[in-house]
Amino acid sequence: AARADRLVKEYGRGDVKVIALNEVSVELPAGRFTAIMGPSGSGKSTLMHCMAGLDSVDSGRVFVGDVDLTRLDDKRLTRLRRDRIGFIFQAFNLVPTLTALENITLPLDIAGRRPDQAWLDTVVDSIGLRDRLSHRPGELSGGQQQRVACARALASRPEIIFADEPTGNLDSRSGAEVLAFLRNSVREMGQTVVMVTHDPVAAAYADLVLFLADGRLVDRMQDPTAEKVLERMKGFELPGAGYR
Ligand code: ATP
Ligand code: MG
Repeated sequence: AARADRLVKEYGRGDVKVIALNEVSVELPAGRFTAIMGPSGSGKSTLMHCMAGLDSVDSGRVFVGDVDLTRLDDKRLTRLRRDRIGFIFQAFNLVPTLTALENITLPLDIAGRRPDQAWLDTVVDSIGLRDRLSHRPGELSGGQQQRVACARALASRPEIIFADEPTGNLDSRSGAEVLAFLRNSVREMGQTVVMVTHDPVAAAYADLVLFLADGRLVDRMQDPTAEKVLERMKGFELPGAGYR
């Protein structure tokens, strides 16, 4: 599990300050699929980056397990990120010259870690691309590439996976494949997954939805359906900061 405790993150300098996170406290439960929603600019990516140790915070604490990320020196933080955190981006960020399988094991290779073969087999089986593993990213569809990126994030069996709009570049069918894979990694493999999305249909794959607005946590919804999420989103529409 991971949690944030009164996180504050400001951008800018001098008079022009943006408070991206304004005392946000959230709990991301272990073994659950959590979605984060909110208008554009509400702080969703900032929250993910701060919780994944990709960005510094101005105040507050971030715990992954019982480790406070905000108290780690760079070296320890880098190691924690490598060993215990997975990240999936909207752009798949695969290495074009490597095969799908080489992309999946690349982080382990870089870390000089021998993969847990049984785990890796489970991960590779569950993305449903057994016959495409020797293909390069350019030979795969967008949805297939994103499933490779998911498998890469899972390969080291991280404690938590952060996915920032993982289906943002995909058509709805490819998106559904990626979402089904993420949900399966939670249900069948015990992963903890946190995903930012603008799509109520995507959010309905999660167990829990957290709603941000203006850098604050404004609501949470257990066992969401697309209809309930859509209804709730209407309540948060702010002038100039609408949903995409
Ligand atoms: P979107 O749905 O558009 O991705 P978001 O909810 O992910 O939006 P963030 O990217 O977290 O929003 O941004 C929150 C606020 O912080 C916005 O006002 C944004 O302009 C600002 N911000 C984000 N990154 C930076 C940065 N590197 N420098 C300055 N301001 C930033
Ligand atoms: Mg964002």
